[in-house]
Amino acid sequence: MKKLDATLKEAPVQKTTFKGREYWLKRDDLINHYFNGNKARKFQYFLEKDLSQYTTVASYGGNQSNAMYSLSAFAKIKGLKFDYYVKPISKWLKENPVGNFKAALEMGMNYIELNDYEDFFQRMSKPEKTFHELGKDTLLIRQGGAEKEAEYGVKILADEINSFAKEKGIKDLSVFIQSGTGTTAVFLQKHLNHKVYTTPNIGDSEYLRKQFSLLVEDEKLHPTILESPKKYQFGKLYPEFYNIWKEINEETGIEFELLYDPVTLIVMNEYQKNLKGEIMYIHSGGTFGNESMINRYNRFFKK
Ligand SMILES: *Cc1c(COP(=O)(O)O)cnc(C)c1O
Repeated sequence: MKKLDATLKEAPVQKTTFKGREYWLKRDDLINHYFNGNKARKFQYFLEKDLSQYTTVASYGGNQSNAMYSLSAFAKIKGLKFDYYVKPISKWLKENPVGNFKAALEMGMNYIELNDYEDFFQRMSKPEKTFHELGKDTLLIRQGGAEKEAEYGVKILADEINSFAKEKGIKDLSVFIQSGTGTTAVFLQKHLNHKVYTTPNIGDSEYLRKQFSLLVEDEKLHPTILESPKKYQFGKLYPEFYNIWKEINEETGIEFELLYDPVTLIVMNEYQKNLKGEIMYIHSGGTFGNESMINRYNRFFKK
């Protein structure tokens, strides 16, 4: 295992081409080996903060979540216990851990399976978290890191892109980023001098708009949402997802992520015809989760 290191490096920007168009690629996947991409941005505030009043960091969500893995490394660096609440996990996964789940276990994650996960989720998702049932020794980080504190690190991402565009003399820049909870996209648009486009992965545009409003009230500061022509269900497998992922990996020589990237890439490739200026795509990391996704796609294509 690589040495645990909490240093966040500045993410380089490189020029790439994909399907005949040039793009600037912001390599947020290179920020840090353990917290890469938008999880590094979202947890930067907590990484830099003195958390000695806590013994434990707690979160909840999917059992292959990128956030789960980043938080397991985060807890280890901070010397905290990591409690992660999940729906009951299959016997198969317990006996054959892969991907983010395996990596998080190796970091010392303690997972707690809940039969009434939905109730727990509802209780934890309420805004007032200072009095939550986990106790005051526990720092709660909501699913996917959808926290106001995420703004701190995402603003640094926006500042980096603003400076980049200024240095290069780029006036008309459209920035594409994936959305799960929408936390990264909304804080990015709030601080960026350029237009942000994003695609919902979890839920639809309406869900995403609500998420934006929870974090940034002023709708003028929200990103532009572009939906894919076809409806997709989060976490499900689609041949066109795998195909575009494979194509961009081969064309750029860079490994993209298989859960969030495909829809945004499909939409960007469609929409770029309408855009005259320059385009930047943000690689938000998370390629650690590819192992389990590739296993799933292999089984999927065999059938
Ligand atoms: C977590 C994650 C997202 C979703 O980010 P939100 O801030 O929740 O919208 C997108 N892409 C990748 C690669 C991720 O790991």
